[in-house]
Amino acid sequence: MAPGTQPRLLLPDAPALVAGAARSVLVTPDGEVLVLPNAEMVVALADHPAPMLVHARVTAKRLNIPPIRGAFDLLELLAFALPASPAAPTPRGLALALDLAMPATDEAAAALIPDIAATILRKLAGARQADRNADAASLAARLRDVARWPWAEAVMAALGREAARADPAGLRVWRRLPEWEDAAPAAAPSSHPVTSAEARGALATILGPGAEQRPSQSDYASAAAGAFAPREAVGAPAMVLAEAGTGTGKTLGYIAPANLWAERNGAPVWIATYTRNLQRQIEQETTRLFPDPVERRRKIVVRKGRENYLCLLNLEDATKRNDNREALPLALVARWAGATRDGDIQGGDFPGWMAELFDPAQVRGLADRRGECIHSACTHWKRCFVEHSIRRAAGARLVIANHALVMVQAALGGGDDGDAGTPLRYVFDEGHHLFDAADGAFSSALAGWEMIELRRWLLGAEGTGRARGLQRRIEEFCADRPALAEALSAALQATPRALPPSGWQTRLALGDLPHPAEAFLAALRAQVLARATDSEAGYDAECDLHPVQAALTAAGAALAEALAALRVPLASLHAAMLVLLEDEGAELEVGDRIRISAAAAGIERRALLPLGAWTSMLATLAEPAPEPGSRPNYVDWLTLRRAEGRDIDAGLHRHWLDPTIPFATHVATRAHGVLVTSATLRDTAEEDADLAWLAAEARTGAAHLPTPAIRAAVPSPFDYAAQTRVLVVTDVGLEAGPVAAAMRDLFLASGGGALGLFTAIRRLRAAHALLAGPLAEAGIPLYAQHVDAMDNGTLVDVFRAEETSCLLGTDALRDGVDVPGRSLRLLVFDRVPWPRPTILHRERRLHLSGGRPARYDDAIARARLRQGFGRLVRAADDRGVFVLLDRRAPSRVLAGLPVPAERIGLKAACEIVRGFVGGGVAD
Ligand code: SF4
Repeated sequence: MAPGTQPRLLLPDAPALVAGAARSVLVTPDGEVLVLPNAEMVVALADHPAPMLVHARVTAKRLNIPPIRGAFDLLELLAFALPASPAAPTPRGLALALDLAMPATDEAAAALIPDIAATILRKLAGARQADRNADAASLAARLRDVARWPWAEAVMAALGREAARADPAGLRVWRRLPEWEDAAPAAAPSSHPVTSAEARGALATILGPGAEQRPSQSDYASAAAGAFAPREAVGAPAMVLAEAGTGTGKTLGYIAPANLWAERNGAPVWIATYTRNLQRQIEQETTRLFPDPVERRRKIVVRKGRENYLCLLNLEDATKRNDNREALPLALVARWAGATRDGDIQGGDFPGWMAELFDPAQVRGLADRRGECIHSACTHWKRCFVEHSIRRAAGARLVIANHALVMVQAALGGGDDGDAGTPLRYVFDEGHHLFDAADGAFSSALAGWEMIELRRWLLGAEGTGRARGLQRRIEEFCADRPALAEALSAALQATPRALPPSGWQTRLALGDLPHPAEAFLAALRAQVLARATDSEAGYDAECDLHPVQAALTAAGAALAEALAALRVPLASLHAAMLVLLEDEGAELEVGDRIRISAAAAGIERRALLPLGAWTSMLATLAEPAPEPGSRPNYVDWLTLRRAEGRDIDAGLHRHWLDPTIPFATHVATRAHGVLVTSATLRDTAEEDADLAWLAAEARTGAAHLPTPAIRAAVPSPFDYAAQTRVLVVTDVGLEAGPVAAAMRDLFLASGGGALGLFTAIRRLRAAHALLAGPLAEAGIPLYAQHVDAMDNGTLVDVFRAEETSCLLGTDALRDGVDVPGRSLRLLVFDRVPWPRPTILHRERRLHLSGGRPARYDDAIARARLRQGFGRLVRAADDRGVFVLLDRRAPSRVLAGLPVPAERIGLKAACEIVRGFVGGGVAD
């Protein structure tokens, strides 16, 4: 192509299709518009060429057909042409991301699809000289040849290289990635405090001179500064519990003193929140602190577990397989890897919908999910995203992590991050989730799946995959070191005798279970079936461990023996590696030293720790049953997981009765300062203010510290009485039909912008089936967790982008969803979200409730309702209606909401919704 010539825009001569929940729209290149029920559209499509569409899998699911062959999916085009560009995966989401006018209807959305395609291609053409596009045309040519990629010709034309020859070089993206450089170990941080006045001043500087004054935010920053005081005694961190009503601006309120402390003392502050989505939101807020993106990237680092990052070695292995079915997903991942900020393939700038377009395992399997990293032996080690992230975090001001990672790192003495993984100062945002996060982090399960995973980590794929076993990871160090070689060989011989291969469920059905682990699972299953109250129903079931059946005790003893036979050589191997590091550390190459130390840490974390926990759990089987009503340290119970009547897994579980004890031991007492913050730390329905704080201290671990926590609370600046209504609908039955009909009427009254929350997946599915048609008729898009082929993050992105859409979900969507503005104006709970009556909950309500078990349940339900309510109003001009379709709801569980509930009939509720949040559709 001659210099200065503009590339040709080559758009497919194809119709555009938008499939709704019940009806679809097809717009032909001649402008003919077909609007048909989904079943009729399937027939009509046979008379047209493969269409352009957005999200082939969701479209196919809605039409109830396999994905349309040869369809031009705009998401594939976007992922190739503008990699690492966030966009919700719908026509409206793409329009928003590309600055095009938002289509109001599905007809307008279908008509816009060619414009969206043209815009993406034009942007690609504009960036055709960029380095990252050097191999793009030859990669597109390859996709044309091996994957028949429909967009290939259009992409090559936009790049001005229609005659490019097919070449896979573009897949080898690692050649273009930067290398990290090691820095000297950080010096020990100093302990200069941050005063209240300094925290207020730092906040004012971040906000700038023209910012809106929020006295409560300044008060909050002042209180948060208490967590940055010098520690006065070992094991006694400066701990602050700070409740900040929604709208306080707490993120910047704690970032101000945290950043000042980090700058002043030369060490990062780790900010932990509950979910990956919330990590992203906190990162976005730091734009105010460091507006320059280069400086921000240096000083703010988002850290996640290694299983979140793309492993370049896995990507290379996958490209070498030359499997044509993988050609497109691998090409799109390679394009993204060349453009990503940090290589986070589970979140960050990796579009969640990329994994949905293909087999999710194809994409997610490219992360280091099984701890198979070979560290410095890897040819990509110097470019590895995980290693980049660890090194950047060590030199950052603020590290944004999640609760689970922080707890695991602290328990492992820093984990992947070494000393930098045990920081001195923490901020735990969404602190009301600390109890649950600690519950997950400090629990153990001796289940079929866990044992199979450990076997796979030790032995590798055993002919059914490409997983690297322990031998391949460390054999070169064992070659001339007999102590290591013998221990490794003994461990590998003991593994198949101690840990089962997959497929135990099938062998159980055949009655053929000679393996001690399988015999144990069979005996465990038998006890669950005998004792669980609803074991005949074909669903998950559980029962208490004690009293233990004799067959289970015997099987447990045999398994304990087999596990001990594995643990002994693994412990010897681990010890021999530590000796090697000690004795030969000075002579070893740096890379070898790192590999041996990483392998030793892996053996400890992946094998010795679980084997130790399992052995201790099995020892309990032979102990006498505890006295009824006695308070245990741990709760042990048995489960059988089933789906559609089939066994999925069985296991023995152990959780701390009070998981804030290990949290305090491993995390809080080792730190110098801890701030725990949330909009809902206390139960506001508790009339005794001191009791409310004591309960908050119990659920955050503060109660286990030697010195008392500082308590602080600032109220929400929102005028909830003017901005919200709380309605309990009293004339709707609890069955799926009436609930769905009521949701339909309410959603129509609000004109969309509604989130429906269910306490059971079964009821959600039933409601979706009944809601889809009427909402589609009214032009309101409906999305649903467990129904649509999208993950939660993608669903929320779509819901946020489409002001008239509605979303159905369960508790995962209740927590941590931030949807400001009119996109969320109505929130409907199907029932009071009581805690599930599990064995673990039974023990906790008995022993952790201070003798008031019913109030323990109430407090949990109240907190959940309050969390849900908090989603409605995110800004001073937001308005929202909160509806509970459960006429049995006792007033005491509604007492935590900031406005009184009105108990009314459905018709009146719809009128209030229509009048209060507007935009209603006539029914
Ligand atoms: S160093 Fe480890 S995680 Fe990184 S690319 Fe290599 S094997 Fe993968």
